[in-house]
Amino acid sequence: MKKKLISIVVPVYFEEELIAEFYSRMHPVMNQLKSRFDTELIFINDGSKDRSLEILLELTKKDSRVRILDFSRNFGHQRAITAGIDYADGDAVVIIDSDLQDPPEVIPEMIAKWEEGYDVVGGTRKARKGETAFKLFTARIFYRLLNSLSEIPLPLDTGDFRLMDRKVVKVIRTMKEEGRYVRGLIVWAGFRQSSVLYERDARFAGETKYSLKRMLGLALDAITSFSEKPLMLAVQLGLFITAGSFLAMLYLLISRILRPESVVAGWTSLFVAILFVGGVQILVVGILGVYIGRIYRESRDRPLYIVQETYGFKKRNSK
Ligand code: UDP
Ligand code: MG
Repeated sequence: MKKKLISIVVPVYFEEELIAEFYSRMHPVMNQLKSRFDTELIFINDGSKDRSLEILLELTKKDSRVRILDFSRNFGHQRAITAGIDYADGDAVVIIDSDLQDPPEVIPEMIAKWEEGYDVVGGTRKARKGETAFKLFTARIFYRLLNSLSEIPLPLDTGDFRLMDRKVVKVIRTMKEEGRYVRGLIVWAGFRQSSVLYERDARFAGETKYSLKRMLGLALDAITSFSEKPLMLAVQLGLFITAGSFLAMLYLLISRILRPESVVAGWTSLFVAILFVGGVQILVVGILGVYIGRIYRESRDRPLYIVQETYGFKKRNSK
C-alpha cells in the first residue's frame, strides 16, 4: 500500500539564523515517521531579504523532501501559510513556525490523533516561554475578546500550529478572503476537531516579526472576519444615547418652563454632552469605516500572494 503523505508547511521571514537548527530538529521527526509516512517540507520564503532563501536552497540539494515557495515580496505570515496550504499535496498538512517556538516533536502526537479519526488537531499552548509580559497580556485579552465577540467559539490560546486532514485543506482552499485569520477559518470549516497540549518555547534566535502594529492588524482581521457584533454594539450605543438625550431634552424643557431664570447655568452640562456625543459619533463612524474598508479590500479581488519561483516541487502542483 502506498504510504500516506504528510506535508509540513513552514513560513520563513528573515530567519537565516535558525533555519539550519529548525531543519536539524525537524529531520529526526521526519525520520521517525519514515516507516509509516512520506513527508514533504514546504518552506515559504515570505520576501526575506537575508540569506534565508540561499540556506533553504542548500537544503533542497541535500534533501529531496524539501520544497520552497519564494514570494515576490513580503505578504505576511497568514498568506504565507495560505500558500503552503494551497501547494501541499499531503493527506494531512501540518503548519508550524520556523522559529522553533512550536516544537516539531509534537507532530507525531498530532498524527496519532489524526489516525484516531480527528480531522483537525490544534496545538494548545500549555505554557509560553520567552515572551514579554506585554505579549502574554495582550494575547490573553485578545483571545478572550475575540471569543466573546465571535459568532463561532474559537479555541483559546491556540496559534497556527496544527494538523489538518486533506478534506479540511480542500475547504480552506476555497476561502479566498483577504483579511485572513487562518486558524479561525479552520475552526469555521468544522469537521472533527481536537487538540494536543504543548509548551511553547522561546524563539531559538532572532526577534519576533510581529510588531504591535501587525498584532493589531491580525486582531482586527480576526474580529472583523468572525464578528458583526461591533456593528451591533454601535447601533446599541446609538440607541442608548438617543434615549438618554431625549430624557435630557425633557428635563431641559421642563426646567425652562418651571424655572426660566436657571437656564444659563447649564453651560457645563451642555459642553459635556457635546463632547460625549461627538466622541461616540467618531467611534461609531470608525467601526463602520473598518467594515467598509474590508468590503473594499475584498472587492478588489487581487491574488492573496505571488509566488515568483518554486523549488523542489516534482510537478507543477495540482493547485
Ligand atoms: N513570518 C512570515 N511572514 C511575516 C512574519 C512572520 O512568514 O511577515 C513567519 C516567521 O518567520 C515565523 C512565523 O511566521 O516562522 C511566526 O512569526 P513570529 O515568530 O515572528 O511571530 P510570534 O511567534 O512572535 O507571534
Ligand atoms: Mg515566533
